[in-house]
Parts: sequence; structure tokens; C-alpha cells
Amino acid sequence: MTAAIIDGKQIAQKLRADWKLRADRLHALGIAPGLAVVMLGDNPASQIYVRNKIKACREIGIRSEEHLLGGDSSLATVLALIDRLNADAGVHGILVQLPLPPQLAPHAVIERIAPEKDVDGLHTSNLGRLLSGHPRFLPCTPAGIMEMLKTTGLDLRGKEAVVVGRSNIVGKPVALLLLQAGATVTLCHSQTRDLAQHTRRADVLVCAVGKPQAIGGEMVKSGAVVIDVGINRSPDGKLVGDVDYGAALQRAGWITPVPGGVGPMTIAMLLCNTILSAERHAAEQGIELDA
Ligand code: NDP
Repeated sequence: MTAAIIDGKQIAQKLRADWKLRADRLHALGIAPGLAVVMLGDNPASQIYVRNKIKACREIGIRSEEHLLGGDSSLATVLALIDRLNADAGVHGILVQLPLPPQLAPHAVIERIAPEKDVDGLHTSNLGRLLSGHPRFLPCTPAGIMEMLKTTGLDLRGKEAVVVGRSNIVGKPVALLLLQAGATVTLCHSQTRDLAQHTRRADVLVCAVGKPQAIGGEMVKSGAVVIDVGINRSPDGKLVGDVDYGAALQRAGWITPVPGGVGPMTIAMLLCNTILSAERHAAEQGIELDA
């Protein structure tokens, strides 16, 4: 069996085209959806991610502003900037690019973002709402994964879903979304005993580990959907995921490539959340979106 490729680039493109219409509608009402991106230091990978996000904003009609702070910035400086962005009515979304320099605790920074502008969906208020089944914003990568799963046509109810990785950004929220979709979910991590025993049962396998080859082909159930979230550099400098792609391709039913899989979906969902936030802001002002 050779797996069907879940083409994240193509799915993201379609989503972006749909959401551009919503951005256009906002512009017609005199509202420019706005995203503020805060970056600290000069991490090369973060620079590429931020550049890609800003470019994607421009293409869809989101006004973006980049706030670059030195890698040695104090917590007070970062919080003062976030306070200013929280108060700026032209900013509908605030994104702080992670990872942060070591002197800054991500929790302290993210908690300062107004939850209704937290388009990354990482504020505890937003994660709590997700947990209780009343989400405000879905975290971008998990939301993108769920959109990709939709394209397989697979009914998730009663399926075995295994998520490898338990971060607040990917693993835990995607496990919640799979649970809400009716799957039976197992969440694995570095302390899991006999990882393969779990992954081999998975109808849906989501890998968010951050280690190349963490998931070998023999760990994949025949016909499974494999979502590879990892972004790693192989020794020869190529971008690779967490899954042994060549081997998994021969066993899985569907698989996401790296690059061109989850990455473009994460950016697409950030755009969707920013437009959603601008729409909510407009509604709060009594502006009729459907007029
Ligand atoms: P974290 O480092 O926060 O989490 C990694 C998780 O993997 C941890 O829960 C860890 O367990 C677990 N883990 C580590 N080693 C093993 C192992 N040998 N077996 C089982 N579990 C293991 O990473 P993130 O969740 O932030 O990101 C994961 C990957 O996804 C990275 O490569 C990142 O670059 C990529 N990523 C890609 C995105 C995209 O848009 N495509 C978006 C976000 C992330 P423990 O908790 O016990 O330490």
C-alpha cells in the first residue's frame, strides 16, 4: 500500500481563498483586520516563520505589524509592549513568536495578551475554554491538523487516535480536539513505556516530538492516517518531520509530508483566527457583517 498524501499547501490555499472573502467583506465595511507579531532576538528559524506569517497576512488582506525586540529584553519591556497592543483597537490579533529567550517565561508573556486577541489560542483562558468545549480561538497547529483530517473523509468517532508529544501548543490541544471529535485518544510522551505498542494501534497517529525518525515505519498501523507535525533539520540540512516518511508511506493510508504538510496549515489557521477576531470586534461595535 502507498499512502495518499495530505497536501497541506493545497488545503491551506483553499482555506486562505475562502477567508480572503471574509477579509474583503471587512475591508468593505472600513475595517482592516490587523495582526501584531512580536519577536525577541534573532533566532533564524523564528525569523523565517515570522517572515512567512507576515507575507501570508499581506496576501489575504490582513494588516500586519512586526515588533522586534532585542534578545536581552526584560519582562517589563515585553509586557509594556503587549499592554500597548492590547489597547490598540486596530490590532485584532497578537502573536508572540516562540521560543522566547531564556530570561522570559513564556507563561508570563502569553498570560498578558488579552484573551480576545490571543489568536494563537495559548492563553490559559483560551485553553480552558477549549477544554470545556467552548473554544474562543483554536490553537493554530491543532486546528490545522483537524482541517487536514477532514479532507480524508474519515469518521473519527470510535477511532483510536494516538498523539505523541504533550506540549501546550500541539500535543495536548490536538488530543482534546480528537476527543471532542469522538476518537478514543492516547497521549504519549518521553516517559511512555513501549511507544510502538501504542502507535501500532492508532487509526490516527499525530507525531509532535521534534526528533527526526522518532516514529519508524514499523510503528505505523497499516492504513492509518499519519500527521507529522515535527520540523527538524537532518544532518544533510534538509527539513524533515518526526516520522520515517519513506517507510511510513508504504504502510499508512494517508500521510502528511514535511515540508508542505502541517506547516502551511498552521499559518492558514492564524489568518483565520485573526479575521475571526476582527469580525467579533466589528460585531461588538454593532457593525452588521451580513448587511
Ligand atoms: P515540545 O518540545 O514542546 O514537545 C515535544 C514532546 O515530545 C514532549 O511532550 C516530549 O515529552 C515528547 N517526546 C520527546 N521525545 C520523545 C520520545 N522519544 N518519545 C515520545 N515522546 C517524546 O515540542 P512542540 O510540541 O512545540 O513541537 C514538536 C515538533 O513540532 C517540533 O519539531 C516543532 O518544531 C514542530 N512544530 C511544528 C509546527 C508546524 O506548524 N508544523 C508548529 C509547532 C511545532 P515530555 O513532555 O515527556 O518531555
